[in-house]
Amino acid sequence: MSYDFYMPTRIVSQDESSADSCVKTHSTIFALGKKAVVVCGKHSARACGALDDVESVMKKLGIDYIIYDKVTENPPVSTCYAGGRAAIEAGCDFVIGIGGGSPLDASKAVAVYAANPDFAPDDAFSDNIRAALPIIAIPTTAGTGSEANPFSVMTLDGKNVKKTMKTPYAYPRVSILDPRYTETLSRETTVSTALDAFCHCAESYLSPKSTDISRKFAVDGAKKIYNSLDAIDKLGSDADDPECLKLLRYGLMTGANAGGIAINTTGTGFNHPLGYNLTLYKGIPHGRACGAFMSAYYYYNRTTELGAKLIDDFCDAIGVEWAKVAADIVRWSDVKIGKEYGNALTPDEIELYVNNVKGAGNYKNSPYVINPDEMRDIYQKLFG
Ligand code: NAP
Ligand code: FE
Repeated sequence: MSYDFYMPTRIVSQDESSADSCVKTHSTIFALGKKAVVVCGKHSARACGALDDVESVMKKLGIDYIIYDKVTENPPVSTCYAGGRAAIEAGCDFVIGIGGGSPLDASKAVAVYAANPDFAPDDAFSDNIRAALPIIAIPTTAGTGSEANPFSVMTLDGKNVKKTMKTPYAYPRVSILDPRYTETLSRETTVSTALDAFCHCAESYLSPKSTDISRKFAVDGAKKIYNSLDAIDKLGSDADDPECLKLLRYGLMTGANAGGIAINTTGTGFNHPLGYNLTLYKGIPHGRACGAFMSAYYYYNRTTELGAKLIDDFCDAIGVEWAKVAADIVRWSDVKIGKEYGNALTPDEIELYVNNVKGAGNYKNSPYVINPDEMRDIYQKLFG
């Protein structure tokens, strides 16, 4: 098989047995320029300890920085653009992203806007990107794998549509994985972000762009994530106790990272564009929104010989029968939309969602390509 594998991000990681945080252990990484813009959300970067660790290292190294903490979930283009303008005004020459997928994706867009001062907001989606400031990525969720790819998913202002900036210039220079930063995550966000990571692995494995190498990452990530989700399920209400989840944090973080590396080669499949609508119109967190389509994803792809074979190979590697994998992912996603909840999607809503999916290329990224009638059918059966 021929393949082309490119992964220019240095990834450093350590488990909780290390005395110091990974940021402090690898403090020299932060000598990347004269002044940084730290891109993060309002609360969690501070609450989980990552921002304190970064500030202490920057002060020790004598490197100046500003903090841009205005990133919200599913970041709007305007927020990322404003971050880029703030970085230009302050004279920043590198970017430190701290947070879940939203701040990490925003940090990539900030890096692009800051290095291209003449850009209008929409130019981030053009082919004209020729530069970005160097980026250090510090994930505080175990889900998106954003720290291992150059994608930046933003929301178009006022449109409820997600669009992805894709440029090789936005690969983080270094990513620092410290599972301790995920200990402040609730059980709910832990599960939701893990479901996102599982979908990355599952969708990547089936992609026509997958290779021997990307599939190894997809399987490694899927095993770690599925086993952790299964363990959380079996813990029942004990899983609300942060101490109970502590042992799973390293596997979740490195599993999600493997999923990020896998989709770096392949991109995602149709669970993602179908899920974006549930997030943007119904407020369902990204991972649960994607996971809700797992049975439909396997159902349609099993109608092709290649799809059925790949699904069997993938689930054999996890060690669980495919129908159980799909059913578990849907059950853990727990999306409560439909007649029985009194909030069924209307035909108009379904039409709008289908139109949005048609605008995203990744719905075609699997052995079976669903058509608009099948998209309608999926939404109707699951949530109509
Ligand atoms: P997120 O949107 O970054 O954050 C969700 C919530 O979790 C926020 O309220 C955040 O608080 C909080 N949070 C983050 N870390 C925490 C911690 N350690 N402790 C307590 N709370 C914490 O969540 P995400 O699921 O990681 O990212 C989703 C985004 O990533 C979506 O926009 C999605 O489209 C994108 N995505 C990107 C890729 C990619 O490859 N680049 C792949 C999949 C998805 P704060 O607001 O205070 O930070
Ligand atoms: Fe995702």
